[in-house]
Amino acid sequence: MLTDIEIAQQATLIPIDQLAKKIGLKEEEFIPYGRDKAKVEIDTSNPKGKLILVTATSGMPAGSGKTTTSIALAQALQKLGESACLALREPSLGPSFGMKGGAAGGGYSQVVPMESINLHFTGDFHAITAANNLLAALIDNAKHQGQVELKEVTWRRVLDVNDRSLRDIVTGLGGLANGTPAQTGFDITAASELMAIICLADGESDLRARLDRLVVGIKKDGSAYTCGELGATGALMALLKDAMLPNLVQTLEGVPAFVHGGPFANIAHGCNSVAATRAALKLADWAITEAGFGSDLGAEKFYDIKCRLTGLQPAATVLVTSLKALKWHGGVALPEIGKPNMEALKAGLPNLRAHIKNLQNFGQQVVVSLNHFFGDPEDEIEVVRNECKALGAKFAVSDGFAKGGEGAVDVAKELIEAVKEGSQPLQFSYNLDQTVLEKIQEVNTKVYGGKDVEFSPAAQKDLAKIDALGFSKLPICIAKTPFSLSHEPGWKGAPKDFTLPVQRLILNAGAGFIVVTTGAIMRMPGLPKKPAAYSIDVVNGKFVGLS
Ligand code: ADP
Ligand code: MG
Repeated sequence: MLTDIEIAQQATLIPIDQLAKKIGLKEEEFIPYGRDKAKVEIDTSNPKGKLILVTATSGMPAGSGKTTTSIALAQALQKLGESACLALREPSLGPSFGMKGGAAGGGYSQVVPMESINLHFTGDFHAITAANNLLAALIDNAKHQGQVELKEVTWRRVLDVNDRSLRDIVTGLGGLANGTPAQTGFDITAASELMAIICLADGESDLRARLDRLVVGIKKDGSAYTCGELGATGALMALLKDAMLPNLVQTLEGVPAFVHGGPFANIAHGCNSVAATRAALKLADWAITEAGFGSDLGAEKFYDIKCRLTGLQPAATVLVTSLKALKWHGGVALPEIGKPNMEALKAGLPNLRAHIKNLQNFGQQVVVSLNHFFGDPEDEIEVVRNECKALGAKFAVSDGFAKGGEGAVDVAKELIEAVKEGSQPLQFSYNLDQTVLEKIQEVNTKVYGGKDVEFSPAAQKDLAKIDALGFSKLPICIAKTPFSLSHEPGWKGAPKDFTLPVQRLILNAGAGFIVVTTGAIMRMPGLPKKPAAYSIDVVNGKFVGLS
């Protein structure tokens, strides 16, 4: 079989203006970025579509196949004569050049142009990085010019690269004329508050309001110093004007796809932009969206943050799993997960069960989509099918990687059936008027399977500050490993009754949530021993090595 990039490079793309017109956009509603991408600006009121969330059982270092399955499913719906549109996240350069590789799907279920989507695309990440760092410079300058006295600057710099040396740094070491020494650091752009703001902003005036209330430091009297008070909102609006418009591209089978906004789901809220989701819901009968990692990360935040905030109600949730992922959770070492091993598969089923239960507890109809890998044994697939049926979830195999939309028709049929049966209105994990500790406790017990929550001394101080500033009614965005339902990457299956250690609480007043870091989670990743960067190149004018 050809590699992902070879398949993508063989594709004939529908010119973007034709695609835009085909899905009903008027000339003035889209701005072409070259031949195969466009920014879209439409009125998204009165949506006609049903919203479908795609999530997965606990993560694997290689990725579970959520993006591949989302794309396959949209293509399958189109094959069945339905109108479908995708809403996906934009890849970050960190994973593209690091361990995980790109994020434009795989095999015959990809969004294209995949090289552009995985690299600079329409420049949204760069715009967000520039806006973030302009704000950092404006804060330091306001201090330098004596315009404000701050006890603490809470705003950090960002870059879209995995660079562990930037996690903790000291700036301003060159003497008085070159700034005052300050301890600070960089996060990856995908974890930044501005990324979350772009993704949650519901239109231009909401974006402005969020920027205005964004807290960048603490003043001498203990009150919050905001981006609005600093006077930086207008400049940020200018830098973010185009970045807030959703990007239209297509799948290999010509299904429209909005690829917009890219917060990671382990260290941020993990969902593409509200603007992209609303655009997909406006233009098609089925809007398929992916939230990062599992029901414990992207899906929990999709329901508890994004849907709560916007009133969006998903019609059903697709849970992606694979024999490999379940065997990994059954205790098999990574190089062995592709081999037949019924015992390990059965040992991994508690992970599947926990994720199905979690999604059902939110009120969702669940369709389990088994991402088929070459050579998957039939008897092992049957075990998973029976397990799903026993739990009241629907089940189908997706071979979208090898066969495109055709390979996911069974999943699409099960989905249509699940939507007919209907989901309940969303049952959130917590209420906003609970205390911050109670909210974390609710997610820990209801979603992760834990028992208690323990705050570090730093987290206790953070909490006191957040309470004093009056922000404790915000939802929480927990940063946690994707490899386990718990905070410990090595705890496989469905760990129970653990104590969740909370390291820090970070106020994101503009995004409208409190980031809660747990375990050893870091908001600036590092590169692995053999980064994907070593295989990426341009040969005779063509990209190679992107996956
Ligand atoms: P996720 O969205 O869960 O991170 P992706 O859909 O991006 O996962 O898939 C991760 C990687 O695995 C991609 O490189 C993709 O090409 C590959 N992949 C996904 N499904 C399959 C499959 N069924 N067979 C072989 N490779 C696959
Ligand atoms: Mg993905």
